Amino acid sequence: MAKRVKNIAVLTSGGDAPGMNAAIRAVVRACSYYEVNCFGVYKGYEGLIDNDFTQLNARSVRNIINKGGTFLKSARSKEFRTKDGRQKAYVNLKENSIDALIVIGGDGSFTGALKLSEEFDFPVVGIPGTIDNDINGTDYTIGYDTALNTVVEAIDKIRDTASSHNRLFLIEVMGRDAGDIALNSGIGAGAEEILIPEEDMGVDRLIDSLKKSEKSGKTSSIIVVAEGDKSGKNIFELGEYVKEKLDGYDVRVSVLGHIQRGGSPSCFDRVLASKLGVGAVEALLEGLQDVMIGIVHKNVTTVPLKTALSKRIHKHDRLIKVADITSV
Ligand code: ATP
Repeated sequence: MAKRVKNIAVLTSGGDAPGMNAAIRAVVRACSYYEVNCFGVYKGYEGLIDNDFTQLNARSVRNIINKGGTFLKSARSKEFRTKDGRQKAYVNLKENSIDALIVIGGDGSFTGALKLSEEFDFPVVGIPGTIDNDINGTDYTIGYDTALNTVVEAIDKIRDTASSHNRLFLIEVMGRDAGDIALNSGIGAGAEEILIPEEDMGVDRLIDSLKKSEKSGKTSSIIVVAEGDKSGKNIFELGEYVKEKLDGYDVRVSVLGHIQRGGSPSCFDRVLASKLGVGAVEALLEGLQDVMIGIVHKNVTTVPLKTALSKRIHKHDRLIKVADITSV
C-alpha cells in the first residue's frame, strides 16, 4: 500500500505551451480540494537542482487560466541530464518533504522524470504539455489546439497577400518529428500541399503537383512545411528550388516561428489542462506513479510513462487523403 501523499510539487519543463498555466492551476486547486500541500518549482528541473520551491494555495493561481506561457517558468536543464544533477534534485525534494512530483512537459521532460523515479524510487506523474502533439497514449497534448488556431489564423492572413499577387508561399510551421500541426493546419487553412516528417513526398512530385494546380487555373498557392519535413532541403533551399522549376509564380517563404507557442490558450486547451491537472493529483492520491495522464476518446486515462515515451504509431493516412482530395 503506497504511503499517503501529503506534499506534491509541480513544475513545467521543456518548451512552453499555452495552457500550462491552466494545468498548474488545476493541480494546485485539486491539491487544495483534497487537502494536500502543493509546491511550485520555478524553471523546471533547474529549480529542482537550485532548490527554488514555493508553496502555492488556491489563491496563488487566480487569473492565470487565460494566460499563455507558464508563470512557474520553464527551462532546459543540462545538469538534470546527469546523474549528479538528478541526485541534487532528489536531495532537495526530500529536504522539502515532497512525496511526489508532477511534471508538465514533453517527451524530454518525461524521460528525465522517469530517470529520477527509477534511480531514487521517487513517485512522478507526467502531464503532456507541448504544442507538438507528439506523445504516445494521449489524443491531445496541452497547447496543441491553441497552436493550430494560431497557425490557421496566420495562414489565412498570408493567403490574402498570396492571392492578391499570384504568389506561392512556403510556410514553415513547428514539428521536428510530428506532422500534426502541419497536416491539420494545412487542411484547416486550405493549403495546396503539406510536407510532414512522417512521409517523404519527394520534391519532384511536389513540383508536378504544383504544375498541375497551375494548369487547373490556380493562381496562388500555399504550401505548409513542417520543420522536420523529409525533402532534405531547408525551407529557403526548397523555395529556391521551386522558383527554379516554376516560372509562373512569385515564390515567397515565411517561417512562423515562436508565435506558434504564444497567446491565450483556446477553450479546448483550458478544459484539457484542467482535466489532466485534476487527474494527475487524483492518480497520485490513488497510489499511482510513473504514469502519464492523457485523454483518449474524451476520457482521462493513465498510461505508464514508458509507454508515453515509446514511438508513436502515426495514423495520418486518412488526413493525408482528405488533404489530397480537398486540394484538387
Ligand atoms: P518540447 O516537446 O516542447 O521540446 P520537452 O519536454 O521534450 O518539450 P526537452 O528540452 O527535450 O523538452 O526536455 C526538457 C528537459 O528534460 C531537458 O532540459 C532536460 O533537463 C530533461 N531531459 C531531457 N532528456 C533527458 C534525458 N535523456 N535524461 C535526463 N533528463 C532529460
